[in-house]
Amino acid sequence: MAIREIVKYPHPILKKRCEEVDRIDDELRTLIRDMIETMYSANGVGLAACQVGVPRRIVVLDVSPMDPEKDLFVMINPEIIAEEGEIDHEEGCLSVPECTEKVKRKAKVCVKGLSPAGKEIEVTGEGILATALQHEMDHLDGILILDRISRLKRELYRNRLKKEKRKEETP
Ligand SMILES: [Zn+2]
Repeated sequence: MAIREIVKYPHPILKKRCEEVDRIDDELRTLIRDMIETMYSANGVGLAACQVGVPRRIVVLDVSPMDPEKDLFVMINPEIIAEEGEIDHEEGCLSVPECTEKVKRKAKVCVKGLSPAGKEIEVTGEGILATALQHEMDHLDGILILDRISRLKRELYRNRLKKEKRKEETP
């Protein structure tokens, strides 16, 4: 297992639609194990494969990272099959550092996909799990929280990022 580097905004891979997985092999299982380790080491509640630079449709989630593996699950080619209600939780993203914003999401979602063993699985999530599922699945379509907030907030974030970059570049 290995911790992989997390790709940060504005890296172009984060804007791409990720490819479906058509074969689950050892390489893919290694990627999944690395994603889990990377998520825990970064204290995240979820991670999509594109965030470690692999544009495939895979997400790992654990909404109780304090108790590793209790609520851990992996989904390959996830798809929302039912949804209801609306919520707006504060969200952060490992690929968009220092940005926490309220994002409107469905309050409850049912998602179907494949487990690493290739079995069809279904997960129904409410509250933070629903938010995390939708957030990670957004990554598979190249959507970031920055695309879900107002234009003004997005501009403010971009300007802040530019300023920080300039600071880093000035000796
Ligand atoms: Zn994210």
